[in-house]
Amino acid sequence: MTSPVGRFAPSPTGRMHLGVARTSLAAWLDARARGGRILLRIEDIDTPRVVPGADRELQADLHWLGLDWDGDPTWQSQREEHYRAALAKLEGLGRVFSCTCSRKEIAASAPHEGEEGPRYPGTCRDHFQPRDGRTPAIRLRTEVGDVIRHVDRRYGEVVQAVHEVVGDFVLRRADGLWAYQLAVTVDDLLQGINSIVRGADLLSSTPRQLLLRRLLDPASPPLETLHVPLVLGPSGERLAKRDQAAAIAALRAAGVTAEEVVGRLAASLGLVPVGTRIRPAELVALWQVERVPLESGLVP
Ligand code: GLU
Ligand code: ZN
Repeated sequence: MTSPVGRFAPSPTGRMHLGVARTSLAAWLDARARGGRILLRIEDIDTPRVVPGADRELQADLHWLGLDWDGDPTWQSQREEHYRAALAKLEGLGRVFSCTCSRKEIAASAPHEGEEGPRYPGTCRDHFQPRDGRTPAIRLRTEVGDVIRHVDRRYGEVVQAVHEVVGDFVLRRADGLWAYQLAVTVDDLLQGINSIVRGADLLSSTPRQLLLRRLLDPASPPLETLHVPLVLGPSGERLAKRDQAAAIAALRAAGVTAEEVVGRLAASLGLVPVGTRIRPAELVALWQVERVPLESGLVP
């Protein structure tokens, strides 16, 4: 493959915790170990969830950990025109439709909720139903032939019939906000990203993004992915931004050094023994995708 171009894509919805830090470390090591580049993209399109200042704090936390990036950061909130253009392109392909269904109506129609929530039943696909006071969402019109085959570098083969499993998914929400799937695909394409490292919770999003990628640019270069399992909190639940104790800023304030934190993250990635203190630059030579665990776990 050509030289990897990866990205950090944090959502500025709170302080960085050990889970995001671990994924960031893996993304950085994977790019640097192969002489690649890594960009920083602030994913701030879900504006109601954005915490003012969190983007600056994320950058400070990355710096403190010893993780750098190439070029200037980008903010998704400033890329509106690109998302618009992509939507227009999909519209030109006859691949979008407006939908006024509520969440409740969709849930009621799909008794067997899958991993991705209820499958869209296709209500508005062929019969748009304008309704008073409801702004429509825009959905992708998926087809029976939209079957995506992909090999993740750690989890292996993923095959998904998007139409059957997820159905017509949202590109622009009823509240006017761009959906994650569209924004992330457009940015990865336009920024020349060819290698994604991110949390395993997004593995099942990959087929939707690959489908959009194929529709938006049939000649787009291959996209490799490496999904990294989630970090669990003390209660065995997935670590969340509200777990203050796991916030990088809290550890720093408590006097823990960056070398200790990076050592803990690296140990949990299977790269060094527990108790190691180390800087990211010293880990580059030790990086091996095969060592990344497949199961969610605690950071030692
Ligand atoms: N912004 C997303 C998150 O913080 C990550 C998106 C991605 O890596 O594709 O969960
Ligand atoms: Zn609908």
